[in-house]
Amino acid sequence: MERKTAWNDYKKKDMKKLEKLNEAYRAFLDAGKTERECVTESIRQAKEAGYVDLAEYIRENRALVPGDKVYAVCMKKAIALFQIGRKPLEEGMNILGAHIDSPRLDVKQNPLYEDGGFAYLDTHYYGGIKKWQWVTLPLAIHGVVAKKDGEVVEIVIGEDEKDPVFCVTDLLVHLSREQQEKAARKVIEGENLDLLIGSCPLNGEEKDAVKGMTLKLLKEKYGIEEEDFLSAELEIVPAGKARELGFDASMIMAYGQDDRVCAYTSLAAMLEVDAPEKTTCCLLVDKEEIGSVGATGMQSRFFENTMAELLALCGKSSDLALRRCLASSRMLSSDVSAAYDPLYASAFEKKNAAFFGKGIVINKFTGSAGKSGSNDANAEYLGTLRAIFDDAKVNWQTAELGKVDVGGGGTIAYIMALYGMEVIDSGVPVLSMHAPWEITSKADVYEAKKAYVAFLKNA
Ligand code: MN
Ligand code: MN
Repeated sequence: MERKTAWNDYKKKDMKKLEKLNEAYRAFLDAGKTERECVTESIRQAKEAGYVDLAEYIRENRALVPGDKVYAVCMKKAIALFQIGRKPLEEGMNILGAHIDSPRLDVKQNPLYEDGGFAYLDTHYYGGIKKWQWVTLPLAIHGVVAKKDGEVVEIVIGEDEKDPVFCVTDLLVHLSREQQEKAARKVIEGENLDLLIGSCPLNGEEKDAVKGMTLKLLKEKYGIEEEDFLSAELEIVPAGKARELGFDASMIMAYGQDDRVCAYTSLAAMLEVDAPEKTTCCLLVDKEEIGSVGATGMQSRFFENTMAELLALCGKSSDLALRRCLASSRMLSSDVSAAYDPLYASAFEKKNAAFFGKGIVINKFTGSAGKSGSNDANAEYLGTLRAIFDDAKVNWQTAELGKVDVGGGGTIAYIMALYGMEVIDSGVPVLSMHAPWEITSKADVYEAKKAYVAFLKNA
C-alpha cells in the first residue's frame, strides 16, 4: 500500500517536460492573482488553442459539431471550456473543475481613513486565513474600480519592481507582552487588518492631509474619486512572483496555489487533449473559499445554463437531454490536498496522508467530524479511475484531510454531485495551505496534469 516517489521515474526527457510545465505554471500564477485575472489569462490561452466564445455560436445559431472548441464566461470571474466529442452529449462529459479564488484581504466599500499621520485602507478578509500571517509582508493591490459612467478601471500596484508595495503592521515585540498571551485567533484582530498606504501630507491641507494626498494621487493616476471605492473590487494579495524553492529547486512557493495549481493543470490538460471521444469540459469557478455562493460560484446556474445552450446548438434542446447529459457525466473536482508536514505530524494519520512527490492525490471524501458535508465518492468510480491512472502510468496517492476530528474542509464536489454524476476530489498536495505563500512539489504538478489528460481521454 506504500506509494512510491515519482522523482525516481523521471528520465532526462521527463525532467525537461516537468520543468517546462512548471515554468508555464509559475507564469500563470504571476498573471493570475485574482479570479478575474485568471479568467483573462485562461481566455488568452484558450483562444491561442483555437477556442471560440460560445456567445458567437449562440448569436449566429451556429451548430456545434465534434471537434469544436468553445468557452463561456460568467461575469469575468468564472469560465467553462468545452471540446465537443464524437459521442452524443447525453452519454456524458468528462469534466475537470477547479476554483480560481484564493484567500486574501478585500478592501471595504468605505475604506479610506487617516490616523496618526498615516493613511489606511480598511479591509475585510476573504476565506479562511490565519490573520497573524498577513502582517509585515509586502502586499499588492489588484482589482477593478467601476465608475458611475460605466468605465471600469483596472488596477495592479505592487507587482512591478518599480511599484511601491503596501503593508499591514504588527506591534513591536518589545511592547507585546499582552498580545503574546492571546490566542492565535486573536493576536491580530480582523478589524485591525488595515492596509498602510501613505504618510506624506498634501501641502496646504489642514485636516486629513495624508488622506488628501492619497486622493490626489488616485485622481491623477487612475481618475478615481473617493466615492468610486463604493463600486470597487480591490483585492490585497502578497506582492511578488512565484519562486522555485529548495537547493534542488524541486518545489514552488507562491501565493494562491489553492486552487490555481489544479486550475492551471486542468486548463493545460484541457488545451492539450484533442478530438476526444466524449465531450471534455474544464470549469474554473469563483467563490469556493466562501462557500461556492454567488453568480460566479459553483452553486450558480451558470454551468447548467451553459450546458442547455450547448445542447441546443447540438440540436438537443429538451430538458431531458440536459438531465441525461449531466447525470451521465464524470468529474474530477480538482482541488488541493493537505500535504504531510513532518513539523506538524500529529495533525496527520500517516497511512492516509498525502506526501510531496508521490503524485496527484485522490480524496474519496473530505468534510469534517464524521465526513459531514462531504461528497463521498463511489467505490466503483474510484475503481475506474485507478485503472485509468495506472494505464497512463500516472503517479497517484490517496489521502484524507488530516486525522479524524482534527479539522476539515470542503470543495465544489458535492455541488456537481447534485446532478447525479460521478464526482471525486483529486488534486495537488500543498504545504502551508491558505498562508500568503503556499508550497507545492513540481513532481505533483507534473503528475496532476498527466492524470487530468488521462481522465479527459479515457474516463
Ligand atoms: Mn481549494
Ligand atoms: Mn482553500
